[in-house]
Amino acid sequence: MTQLQRARAGEVTAAMKRVAERENRSIEFVREQVATGQAVIPSNHSHESLDPMVIGREFSTKVNANIGNSETTSSREEELTKLHTAVHHGADTVMDLSTGEDLDPIREMNVEHSPVPVGTVPIYEALKRAGDVEALTPELLLEVIEKHAEQGVDYQTIHAGVLMEHLPLTEGRTTGIVSRGGSILAQWMEEHGEQNPLYTEFESICEIFHEHDVTFSLGDGLRPGSLADASDAAQFAELDTLGELTRTAWEYDVQVMVEGPGHVPMDQIKGNVERQQEVCDGAPFYVLGPLVTDIAPGYDHITSAIGATEAARAGAAMLCYVTPKEHLGLPDEEDVREGLAAYRIAAHAGDVANGLPGARDWDDALSRARYAFDWREQFDLALDPERAQSYHDQTLPGDNYKDARFCAMCGAQFCSMRIDQDARDAGDLDALDSLDETTNLETTSAAEVNRPPVGTHDTEQLPQQSLEEYTADH
Ligand code: SF4
Repeated sequence: MTQLQRARAGEVTAAMKRVAERENRSIEFVREQVATGQAVIPSNHSHESLDPMVIGREFSTKVNANIGNSETTSSREEELTKLHTAVHHGADTVMDLSTGEDLDPIREMNVEHSPVPVGTVPIYEALKRAGDVEALTPELLLEVIEKHAEQGVDYQTIHAGVLMEHLPLTEGRTTGIVSRGGSILAQWMEEHGEQNPLYTEFESICEIFHEHDVTFSLGDGLRPGSLADASDAAQFAELDTLGELTRTAWEYDVQVMVEGPGHVPMDQIKGNVERQQEVCDGAPFYVLGPLVTDIAPGYDHITSAIGATEAARAGAAMLCYVTPKEHLGLPDEEDVREGLAAYRIAAHAGDVANGLPGARDWDDALSRARYAFDWREQFDLALDPERAQSYHDQTLPGDNYKDARFCAMCGAQFCSMRIDQDARDAGDLDALDSLDETTNLETTSAAEVNRPPVGTHDTEQLPQQSLEEYTADH
């Protein structure tokens, strides 16, 4: 039985209990969210090392990290290192998008070692085995999908929403079809003159997914690859089909989330999220970015984290990270770290803005440690503790500086938090409340705050004119 089936039957599973504990929500709330399809717990029966987690708009926003090799780069050892890096830096799920060598051992190794759900895109392996797009068959696609399910993959991207009827709608696009799965299926449909096999075989896929409790991640094969193509007729036609497929999967008691764009201007993101939620009856929305501008290759973890924050605020449930290498190359370990940091910030910022219970506690705890000059606590609480400490220690490495009431940014004399605390301790702030022309500023902390740095503003040699005299002279 699947988590959805059990939730619908009123049963509470061990995974639901664990999720409730991790999210600090009631077990009944978790069960009800899963039962109504508003949340998913991707958890293949065969994934033994999994620590169950939940994806849904009522829960903390999750972040996925894509890992995997390509035809040109990466080895088994590097892939395992990437998995560990992703989990270490806070990925809530990982997708193994390998398209190079050793697909089976890498996938099995990832599932065996991963405490987070593992997702795949089976059409990549199917194409590799077929040799070329024309040789792909529905039977081969189903065979690969079933194998991934048997290997313990928790969710699979299935691009079943790209239909023959949608393809003419992509004419005139600036960047055509940019999804790998979408472009493969479009070519297959054109060459065969037949409907998308993932659509025609969708119910067979539901049966496989039901048996192993694999969650659908309904792929957005026609997502926009540029701002110019955002929110166009092709994208929304596919979304309508994804809504239909969501309901079909639910009839089979199979869990579903829906993938979304891509490249979208800021002002269209909220509308995109709300449209998906309406069309797909609240099934969790899993968005890639979106990138809010096309102009910054090399910095697309930033362009997309801006869009991801807006998407999280609008109700997206999971964010697929983008690394600085997007559009340029295969991410390495450091790119995985950078991408995850950007996306965990986006997810958390969305949760804080949405008032998710407890989300702000982290911010408040870090701020208290910061104001108390508790440097060790600050590092521990930081999103990336190692980065925070290494930046601090670049300039003030000594252990004594871990208790210092300043850092190298402003220095001891100009540390505003120290000055503020000294002023409060001395009761100066009360005095400054009643500031008037009789107040002797020299006796208050205001004098210290306003004193120029030694040796940098020597005013002795400047003309000692009043403003009126200066204005008269000029
Ligand atoms: S020196 Fe500046 S940055 Fe550093 S702790 Fe003080 S106020 Fe903050």
